[in-house]
Amino acid sequence: MSDTTETPQAATRTATPVMISRKPGAPSATAPSGSEGTRTACIRTFGCQMNVHDSDRMRRMILDAGYAEVQSYEEADLVILNTCYVRENAVDRVRGHLGELNRLRRLGRVKKVALTGCIGASDESTTLQRQYGIDLVLGTHNTYELAEFVGLPTMRETYTPDLPGTEGEHSAFVTIMTGCNYQCSYCIVPSVRGRMVCRPLESVVAEIEGLVESGTGYVTLLGQTVDAWRHDGKRFCDLLARVADVAPRVWFTTSHPSNMEDRTLRLIGEKDTIVKRLHLPVQSGSDRMLKVMHRGYKAERYRRKIEVFREAVPDGTLSTDIIVGHPGETEEDHEQTLKLVEDCAFDSAYIFKFSPRKGTEAAELGGAVPPGVVQRRFLEVLRAVEQNAYARNQRKVGSLEDVYIRHGSTEDGKAIGETWSGHAVHVRTECEPGKYVRARIDSAGPHVLYAGEPVA
Ligand code: SAM
Ligand code: SF4
Repeated sequence: MSDTTETPQAATRTATPVMISRKPGAPSATAPSGSEGTRTACIRTFGCQMNVHDSDRMRRMILDAGYAEVQSYEEADLVILNTCYVRENAVDRVRGHLGELNRLRRLGRVKKVALTGCIGASDESTTLQRQYGIDLVLGTHNTYELAEFVGLPTMRETYTPDLPGTEGEHSAFVTIMTGCNYQCSYCIVPSVRGRMVCRPLESVVAEIEGLVESGTGYVTLLGQTVDAWRHDGKRFCDLLARVADVAPRVWFTTSHPSNMEDRTLRLIGEKDTIVKRLHLPVQSGSDRMLKVMHRGYKAERYRRKIEVFREAVPDGTLSTDIIVGHPGETEEDHEQTLKLVEDCAFDSAYIFKFSPRKGTEAAELGGAVPPGVVQRRFLEVLRAVEQNAYARNQRKVGSLEDVYIRHGSTEDGKAIGETWSGHAVHVRTECEPGKYVRARIDSAGPHVLYAGEPVA
């Protein structure tokens, strides 16, 4: 799942969340009551799309409770930090924000602080709550408890995906499964998100029909291992086919190579409404490291999947996640990763330096890779990905593309959009998010395509 706060290749995404929360017996608090006019709330989201989606749900609750949403801490009575726990630097960032919030509290600005998401689900939240005097701590399985905190009637939902997100937006995330049944050596997700729970197909389709009816034109199906979804004898490919018939534009993330079926890859090429972009994290090109990581596949199997994808979706884009410097990674392992990067010709990649997470197997392993070596390997992988991506993007120059506008134009008059093959495009238009423009690609860098004015 990709980090919404950073771009590919930037190497610091965050993933997801869940469970626990207000610790049993912990004091409950209520949000400020707003004696001086409208109450205000600010939500800060860290990490991946699942967290963005959880924030959407919380946004609905605070708006329903009569809060006005504000963008800065200074203006907020209530601040919600919806957090990620996947790498240590994610926790460091949240600490920085908590420190700043305490400073504002002392100045009488911010009145209450809530910590939600993955850190909320971790043991570390107890220490943070004590250190920073946080008023409410929630994990992601009980996000609904925020309702009571902001003064809404208590909600009974225990399974957050059945609590729909914000409707009527031009694009929406739809969680189809939570948790993860894998045990990758380095990953904290299974301990904070729990085991996989899949939503029934009809519930997913009903939510999407509602969204489309209220104006949503782009649906992204979410899950830690979205392609592992199964329910009542149906598998992910069946669900995707149904959704592609209902939604005008569909994408999904994140997939696991062991679950990715060839028929799903072919479906991407067959259905016009599916964005032709596959995010398939590989983590390493070395079979030895894949085994240490407990990924459950070999590099050759991954390559074969990519061959099927490239054949079924010739104009598609491919992205991945790679970890450099996992304990025990040798120079030879690293060379194999570079070889795989070359063979697969990724269009983009999230490259992460290994970050030890307490409670994971890898945090206890010997064979730490020295930081200088990790940095060099990181740059080598980055360079290899960027070279491929640049060369592939050059092929798009001169082509005419239908571009879905994701973010409206900024001061320089350029909006950010996405082609059907999943390329990010800067295009000169005043067109609103959610609309399509047709534009010719004038030039391309390793990360983005550039188009001029839209044609008719
Ligand atoms: N479920 C997805 C999968 O298995 O591919 C990915 C979800 S994970 C939360 C997002 C990415 O963060 C992973 O693909 C991995 O590359 C990276 N990641 C997770 N734990 C990490 C760690 N301890 N250090 C560095 N990167 C990590
Ligand atoms: Fe983490 Fe592995 Fe599960 Fe992905 S598949 S969430 S990396 S344990």
